[in-house]
Amino acid sequence: MTKVKEVVERFEKFAPKEIAEPGDPVGLQLGSLSAEIKKMMVTLDVRPEVVKEAIDQQVDFIFAHHPAMFHPVKHFDLTVPQNQMYAELIKHGITVYAAHTNLDNAPGGMNDWLAAALGLTATSSLLPLKEESLDQLCVYVPRAAAATVRQALAQAGAGSIGNYTGCSYSAVGTGRFLPNQAAQPLIGQANQPSQAAEEKLEVFVRPRLVGQVIQAMLAAHPYEEPVYYLVPVHGLNQKYGMGRVGQLKHPLTVEKFALMCKQTFKISGLRVISPDLNQIISRVAVLGGSGAQFYPAALQAHADVYLTGDVTYHTGHDILAAGLTVIDPGHHIESICKPNLKRLFEKWRSENDWQFPIITSRLNTDPFKFI
Ligand SMILES: [Zn+2]
Repeated sequence: MTKVKEVVERFEKFAPKEIAEPGDPVGLQLGSLSAEIKKMMVTLDVRPEVVKEAIDQQVDFIFAHHPAMFHPVKHFDLTVPQNQMYAELIKHGITVYAAHTNLDNAPGGMNDWLAAALGLTATSSLLPLKEESLDQLCVYVPRAAAATVRQALAQAGAGSIGNYTGCSYSAVGTGRFLPNQAAQPLIGQANQPSQAAEEKLEVFVRPRLVGQVIQAMLAAHPYEEPVYYLVPVHGLNQKYGMGRVGQLKHPLTVEKFALMCKQTFKISGLRVISPDLNQIISRVAVLGGSGAQFYPAALQAHADVYLTGDVTYHTGHDILAAGLTVIDPGHHIESICKPNLKRLFEKWRSENDWQFPIITSRLNTDPFKFI
């Protein structure tokens, strides 16, 4: 049986939690990472009707884009529908995990799916690129124990770079030390200068794994006082950024593009803020979810049109005054994540020999209807 932890770890290689926006409650929402998966469901939102669907489908692992608990619970009053939903999840032993802005920001994630759906080419990040942080651990090990320590480091998750695991580098040298009276040295004796053939081991470590990696290294290291240090590194890190901007294959009027968006995202209505519906557009910015606040970035990127959700009245005025065209197709277009996540998880399932079925929620969780 496969545990939630294994599936989540594979996903987090694709979209690490560290690349989520600050304060975004991504990760395990409810349940346990050590739970075993019999059936997995991918959903945009975790709503009472989605939980009912999961129970009916005998799902025990829900993978959601939007965190289930946007508003923290202060009173677990079961007459509140949201709390009732949490109770149902617990009662049925369903584990819930959310990948929110880390999925938005991941290369090949939400915003790339939206850009691809719109047929954009030559895409780049809309917001400035950020760099995922990475540390390098250097440790000096007697040569006889180097293989053991290297193995412990790899098992604890150090040295994972792209498609490679267990990456490390060694340089051979001589370590020198003078043990004092109280020391219990592996090599040499108290009060006598000693030296040993050592390897300097270097491995890259993601910051969230530093604690467990150092613990594993210390457990495997034979010295009384292992010498090691940690340094932040730049250059190797994955770069990521929110939103995308790219080119349409064929220029369109704002109106035609808006109609195309309706078709693409299968929605019955959308809102357009535009000084001129007949303006020809070719450069398009897109940011899934609530991205109205980032319209200046769309202007700066010379986008003719910016597609994002949840635009409010006064921001709409500001956008119009700035001469930008914005199309608000709603937040629910992010449901594009369902088939795409299913495809990714199915790929990882066959690579890892996971046995559980993966389904997508069939429900439309858009709270808005057009009449
Ligand atoms: Zn969203």
